[in-house]
Amino acid sequence: MKKRNLSAMIFRMTFMVMFISCSAPVKYYSAADFGNVPKTDAHFHYLTMDGRYMEFASSLKFSLLTPIWDGEVPISDQMKVCVSIHDSFPGRYAFFGTFPVDSFNYPGFAGKTIDRIRKNIAAGASGIKIWKNIGMELKDKNGKYVLIDDPAFEPVFNYLEENRIPVIGHLGEPKDCWLPEDRMSDPSDVTYYRNNPKYYMYMHPEVPSYDQQIQARDNILRKHPHLDFTGAHLGSLEWSVDELSKRLDAYPGFRVDLAARMFHLQRQSSIDYNKIRNFMIKYQDRILYGTDGEVHDIEGLTFERSCDNLRRGWFGQWLYLATDSVVNNVKGLKLPASVVDKIYFKNAERYFTIRKDQLK
Ligand SMILES: [Zn+2]
Repeated sequence: MKKRNLSAMIFRMTFMVMFISCSAPVKYYSAADFGNVPKTDAHFHYLTMDGRYMEFASSLKFSLLTPIWDGEVPISDQMKVCVSIHDSFPGRYAFFGTFPVDSFNYPGFAGKTIDRIRKNIAAGASGIKIWKNIGMELKDKNGKYVLIDDPAFEPVFNYLEENRIPVIGHLGEPKDCWLPEDRMSDPSDVTYYRNNPKYYMYMHPEVPSYDQQIQARDNILRKHPHLDFTGAHLGSLEWSVDELSKRLDAYPGFRVDLAARMFHLQRQSSIDYNKIRNFMIKYQDRILYGTDGEVHDIEGLTFERSCDNLRRGWFGQWLYLATDSVVNNVKGLKLPASVVDKIYFKNAERYFTIRKDQLK
């Protein structure tokens, strides 16, 4: 070895040693940190005027975000609750409004919808949620199913994009929805579709397919690159982080929440641990923690019981994301604390600040 090369090598090695000893060690959270770290459940259905659940969430350092949806519970009822809780817990509670599609086949639909969105934002909404009824229920004048990339929605998406109004889109369903029960991967899907046969697409082949639903959503993301769009439930691509990565790479405004799809993440990490862990780290700025949990006034379910259930659910998922505890044979991902912070609250932080157009 030439002398010059040797001294260059020594210099490089010294530099590396200095670099390694200077860089701070990666920090991780423990199970005990659960109650101390600020967290957001960015997909939580708050369906009661009872503010005690907010107090409970706060005691665990949770902020909550409720997306209103155009489904079984009347929009106006959900709105009443959201506005009231939002007024009582500013900075700790946020909600996304929505719009009905009952006037879809009438003139002026887009204008009316934009007007509704404006009113939602003025009432305190941090964004707008769109739901799977578009794609699975809504039909045009000729009886044809309407997908989200229908030209009638174009002015609405232009408005949302131009005004930087965030959107949560629950479009399509998990793949299980198109499969017979014995081929479903998540047992909770079997229960859900038994209770909601109307949305069990395996039984409704006349409705646009899974691929068509995903394609329509992707068309919106492609046409509106500046749209701030969070795909609820891992963007209905819960079954494959590879498919999800393709979209996250292609569409800069696309983000996803984890709501009600932790099972699928765990199923995949049981097969290939590093792949899922690396996925979470790579897309740490694009993933939001959420559960799809809900609180409402149900007779027989006491406040204490509901809180116990919430705590258990939230804590179990904390163990999976923040620690390497093994629960039900699934090893936790032990994501670095800086990544946990982003997924658990930093990525959702902006929803909790007041927009200029909300100032009274
Ligand atoms: Zn939901």
